[in-house]
Amino acid sequence: MHDQPSLDGYEWPVCVTPRCKRQLWIAEAGRWACRPCEDATATRISELPALFRRLDTTAMLTRGARNPGAGTTGSRTPPIPPRLDVLNLVGPGGIAARLRDIEDAWRSALSWTIAPWRGNPAEAIPHHARFLTDNLLWACSSYESVGQDIADLRRLHAQCKALTEQKPKTGQVKIGLCPVQIDDQPCGTQLTASTRSFKTTCPTCDTSWEGEQQWRVLRRAQEQVTAETAQTAA
Ligand SMILES: [Zn+2]
Ligand SMILES: [Zn+2]
Repeated sequence: MHDQPSLDGYEWPVCVTPRCKRQLWIAEAGRWACRPCEDATATRISELPALFRRLDTTAMLTRGARNPGAGTTGSRTPPIPPRLDVLNLVGPGGIAARLRDIEDAWRSALSWTIAPWRGNPAEAIPHHARFLTDNLLWACSSYESVGQDIADLRRLHAQCKALTEQKPKTGQVKIGLCPVQIDDQPCGTQLTASTRSFKTTCPTCDTSWEGEQQWRVLRRAQEQVTAETAQTAA
């Protein structure tokens, strides 16, 4: 009969966050995640709504420039800077969905009803962030799987931060050929733009496009030239 656990195999409890490995203090006994992990996570959660808003601005502009409803024909014109990474994060499957998944898991562990519908990502993210902030202490104390969520939030935050702090790609990206007709021929000069600006000027014919609206016009004109060229070649 030995009810007493053997001390030989006893290991001081450590934080469940992957790669944290901090030993829990006596005052933290009974917790799953350590205090520093909780604090760092709280900061990350609080910064996510603002990071989203910054990403969403870039994405709005980019989205307008992508495919202005001109059918789905595979265009040969190089796309205007796609920033798919940004679009993925700000879209319905991005930051909002990842926060909602964590919220739902916590609610389920708490035996609460699942999160109500909170609208589009811009509307939902502040709500999810508030919920996670309000319940973070509970999760670190009582939710065994909190380590994975802390790691996921760390990755998500790092991804957003890296994108918002991204330096413009070494100057310019190619955004297709100039579609302006000169003597019945498209100008055809390679247009470039900074990844951060929606202005481009053709160095040959000096035509400028600025802003999302004009970029849609540019894009449409480029697609038309591509279509006509394809027709001539056929
Ligand atoms: Zn920790
Ligand atoms: Zn031109």
